[in-house]
Amino acid sequence: MNRTLCFLLLWLALAVAPGQAAFVNGHSYVPLADWAQANGLKVAWLRRGDQIAVANHNLRAIFVINSAAAEINGVAVRLCFPAASARGIPLISQLDADKTLRPFLYPPRTAAGKRITTICLDPGHGGRDTGNQVGAHSEKTYTLALAQELRDQLQLAGFQVFLTRNDDNYVELPFRPAQANRRGADLFVSLHFNATENDRQDVQGTETYCITPVGASSSNAQGEGAGYGPTSANHNEQKSILLAWSVQKALVHLLGAPDRAVRRARYAVLRDAIMPAILVEGGYMTHPVEGARIFTSGYRRLMARAIVQGILAYQKSLQAPAATIPSHTKHPTHSVYSHSPR
Ligand SMILES: [Zn+2]
Repeated sequence: MNRTLCFLLLWLALAVAPGQAAFVNGHSYVPLADWAQANGLKVAWLRRGDQIAVANHNLRAIFVINSAAAEINGVAVRLCFPAASARGIPLISQLDADKTLRPFLYPPRTAAGKRITTICLDPGHGGRDTGNQVGAHSEKTYTLALAQELRDQLQLAGFQVFLTRNDDNYVELPFRPAQANRRGADLFVSLHFNATENDRQDVQGTETYCITPVGASSSNAQGEGAGYGPTSANHNEQKSILLAWSVQKALVHLLGAPDRAVRRARYAVLRDAIMPAILVEGGYMTHPVEGARIFTSGYRRLMARAIVQGILAYQKSLQAPAATIPSHTKHPTHSVYSHSPR
């Protein structure tokens, strides 16, 4: 360990009084170092006063003070509330400690032998609801094309798959998760493509959404506030963020698309699902390059392959042996953080 890092770790240890909780904008926060120590993680500044990492052998998370943009195991993740600092002590919201980080440290386990068998795919929009319209291109056309490709690939991988619509039909939002619930799906995956009015040349990349925890505000463009009660989806929120993370990771890696992060939303199609549920925004139809790719079957085939890979990795992660807290871990020394907030 180099001397600077040694000093910083010592400084953190001395600066933080254990058990100290704080309130930032009315939300409960805990010192990051306390939380890290209690969970067997090391903590170190990557850029002093600004960027900080916690790590053990199965989790490496990077936070930026006064920002909700974080990174967990190499994938951008939106926090429920920005990381903060008080008198130089880095703080993280209690809600993020419990709902964003904890699932990665102590993943919920599936019962032995229990596997994902049935997956419900939800092609966004349809019929009179075209979704985003870019020139002659309607979002509803490409969400259905992607869902059909994904269905074929998932079936080849051994899953049973059904779609909430099989043709250009209008389907009410509540009826989409309702079909998944009624037919006993193990996973629900809603498929969409994005668009933006401004900065069309610049805004591109994939986003994967999962349900917003109770007490948090969402990170979608509408950004509903925190005053919402629990929904059916909150029962599976730990699994849903892990599924979203796995799928987002595979999308970014296979497509080479900019990582616009795992995000939170209370979308109608997410909140009523009684199984782990995510919504994939597979890229920006308005971006000149990404848009043109989305309109090709080859790119959608690759996107489908990424989603299959993400689902398989998620399934595997739930079957791994339970995480143990290590007695000795490596310290993070270099930042790989490169995410630019929306
Ligand atoms: Zn859409």
